[in-house]
Parts: sequence; C-alpha cells; structure tokens
Amino acid sequence: RVNRGDFMNALEEVHPAFGVSEEELQQVVQNGIIRYDAVVDELLRTGQLFVEQVRTSTRTPLVSILLHGPPGSGKTALGATIAQLSQYPFIKLITPDNMVGFSESQKVAAISKVFSDSYKSPLSVIVVDNLERLLEWTPIGPRFSNAVLQTLMVLFARRPPKGRRLLVIATSSLRPVLTEIGLSESFDSELRVPPIATLRALENVLHAVQLFHTSEEANNARRLLSQAGFASDEADETSATLHIGIKKLLSIIEMARQEPDNMAERLTGALMGLGM
Ligand code: ATP
Ligand code: MG
Repeated sequence: RVNRGDFMNALEEVHPAFGVSEEELQQVVQNGIIRYDAVVDELLRTGQLFVEQVRTSTRTPLVSILLHGPPGSGKTALGATIAQLSQYPFIKLITPDNMVGFSESQKVAAISKVFSDSYKSPLSVIVVDNLERLLEWTPIGPRFSNAVLQTLMVLFARRPPKGRRLLVIATSSLRPVLTEIGLSESFDSELRVPPIATLRALENVLHAVQLFHTSEEANNARRLLSQAGFASDEADETSATLHIGIKKLLSIIEMARQEPDNMAERLTGALMGLGM
C-alpha cells in the first residue's frame, strides 16, 4: 500500500519503471513540480487515487481523466508526474510535439499504436497531451481532424483486453471545445488545474526558485507587489487579480534574474504588464 506520505516523498526521487519512456516524461517536467499551493498537492493526490483505483479495482479496468485549465497552468507537467509516480510498467506520452509534419493517417496510426502496445501490459498509463493540438483544432471554421477525433473517442472508450488495465490522462486548455465536439463525455473525471491567483502562491514560487538571495530583496519585492495591488488573498476583491500560469511565471522569473540589480522591479513590471 502506498500512502500519501510515500507518494509525496516519491516526488523527490522519481524512479520510472522499466520500459518507460523516461526521457520524454522528464522533459515535460523540466522545472520540477513546485508545491506553491495546496491545490498542487490536491491534484497529485487525486491523480494518485485514480492510479490506485486502476491498480486495485477489478470493476474499472479503464479510467480516463481530463486535466484542464488555462494555458501554462502546468497540466502537462502534472499529468506526466502522476504517470511517472504510478510506477506502472507501461507509461507513455502521446504529444503533438512528436507529430509535427505527420499526416492525419500517420497521427491516427501513432496514437493507435500506443494504445495497442499498452494492451500488452497488465497496467498502463497513457498521457494524451494537448488534445486541441492533437485534433488540429482551429477556431476559424471551426475545423479539426475528424479522423483523430473518432480515433480518440474509440480508444478512450475501448476496454483493454481481459486482465489488462489502463489509465488515460488527457490534457487540454480548451475544455469548452471538447464539449462542443463531444469528447467531454469520454472522461470519467475532470480535474481543473488553476492558474496562480494569490500573492502567497507567487511568493512560494519565488522562494522555491531562490530568485532573491537576501531577505531585503524578498521584502522589497513583496512591498512592490502589494503596492502594485496584488492581494495576498484571492478573496480580497478590492485588489488587482493575479492570474498567471506557472509556466509563464517561471519564464518571467528567469527574465528578471538576468538583471540582478533590479530583479524585484523587473518582476513586478512584467507581472503588471500582463494586464491583470
Ligand atoms: P500549455 O497550456 O502550454 O500546454 P501546460 O499547462 O501544459 O502548458 P506545462 O507545460 O506543464 O504547462 O508547464 C509547467 C511548467 O512549470 C513545467 O516546466 C513544470 O516543470 C513547471 N512547474 C513547476 N511547478 C509546477 C506545478 N506545481 N505544477 C505544474 N508545473 C509546474
Ligand atoms: Mg501542456
């Protein structure tokens, strides 16, 4: 039995199982998982519950979940992390990044192959990343690949062969589109990955990446950020709202790091410049 403590400890030292595309998974969690808010632990824990459900329940050989949230909120990294922590013998990532230049039928074949490979393993987890890009969704038209859609619908619903179990973790920034094209119903559960919305969470990220080296610098940044009107609490409706994905925030932080003398100013400026 894996308890919550074990699971959280495992975050520190992930050992992907044999035969797993380790590098591929590692790549999408490039900057690690920062536990900047309780919601991060909650998402990982809920993911773990599904992992355990598929592992132990004989009634549910197939479970599919959707991680959705605004661009850059950390969906891919969280999905890959949940997959890695499962320690299942078969862990695979399906991503449009690896299908650049593929024809529609090549995409369908590549997706189908991952699923049929998974049916050979007693326990599998497949991360189907960025559904809207996989589907070549374009708001103009609107257009998308119906062949890919039909393939996903069939595979998301197909029970693995007897004795085989499969967890599907899909990600998307465009949940309304999935509903529109009828893909939402394919999921047993949906988990929302929210953007960073409180000053406290922001400060936790700053602390984790050690942007500031002295407490003066950190205090100065806190002063500037609250002067800019960012609330320390989401419930405080009088203040400016913070709404930024962890991915973007990390890149803004790295930008600020380039100018050591004015890091706090650059950071605040960049955050305000987002028009929040
Ligand atoms: P997109 O909408 O562009 O697909 P995304 O929501 O999938 O973006 P990711 O590609 O997962 O976002 O980017 C999140 C980045 O932030 C990764 O580099 C990851 O390592 C890092 N990160 C740090 N802390 C967290 C966290 N708590 N949750 C998710 N990602 C995190
Ligand atoms: Mg992503």
